[in-house]
Amino acid sequence: MTCEHIVDLEPVSARGEGCEECLRMGSSWVHLRLCLACGHVGCCDNSPNRHATRHYRQTTHPVIASYEPGERWAWCYVDEAQLSVPPRFEPLLRE
Ligand SMILES: [Zn+2]
Ligand SMILES: [Zn+2]
Ligand SMILES: [Zn+2]
Repeated sequence: MTCEHIVDLEPVSARGEGCEECLRMGSSWVHLRLCLACGHVGCCDNSPNRHATRHYRQTTHPVIASYEPGERWAWCYVDEAQLSVPPRFEPLLRE
């Protein structure tokens, strides 16, 4: 299946090394997700605060990628589908 939301996105470097909101709150997270529209780093849905999904609800930025070392997958909230990471986004992700 094809996601048309990721097509228009340009790579933006991650804005931080941890979940922005959790760092501000002094909270913790399980896994990190990178917003491919703006470089926001947020925490996953297994984390207490689910900031990546909250970021999508607030901004409607449609696609996140895993920001865990070595992981290479993306997720489109609109399509509710997992995507492969296009090569232009590879350099943004963690090794
Ligand atoms: Zn999509
Ligand atoms: Zn968080
Ligand atoms: Zn965003």
